[in-house]
Amino acid sequence: MQRGLINHLDLTVSDLARSTAFYDAVLSQLGYRRTTTYAGSVPNWELQAGPVALSLGLHAARHAVPHDRYAPGLHHLAFHVPSRAEVEAMHARLQQLGATVLDAPAEYDYTSGYYALFFADPDGLKLEVVHEPRFDRAGD
Ligand SMILES: [Zn+2]
Repeated sequence: MQRGLINHLDLTVSDLARSTAFYDAVLSQLGYRRTTTYAGSVPNWELQAGPVALSLGLHAARHAVPHDRYAPGLHHLAFHVPSRAEVEAMHARLQQLGATVLDAPAEYDYTSGYYALFFADPDGLKLEVVHEPRFDRAGD
């Protein structure tokens, strides 16, 4: 276990069934598995990477407030992928789903070779899938 890594991240969604279907499609492509490890009934996915595990869960909203990434709270959430091809594959997957693509795959100058795709979840939360060569390691 790596001290300080995120253990879990839970999001609030306006329509649990709709977002469960969306996150199931997106997270399964990223290697997450639906799990019932946590007590309770919230949909939950877990990524196991050696000794490191991260889980993502969904909770039903109690107030119908649109997401605003420029209000206090989460701005966006980014997921690593090990290649540009996986960024492209996620783009294709999102198009199949009819999801909102905010910015098609492109290179950005944030770090050398940064290649990312930006999209929105059903509530408008901004998500990103990125390949950053600086994190490449043999075996990925
Ligand atoms: Zn980002």
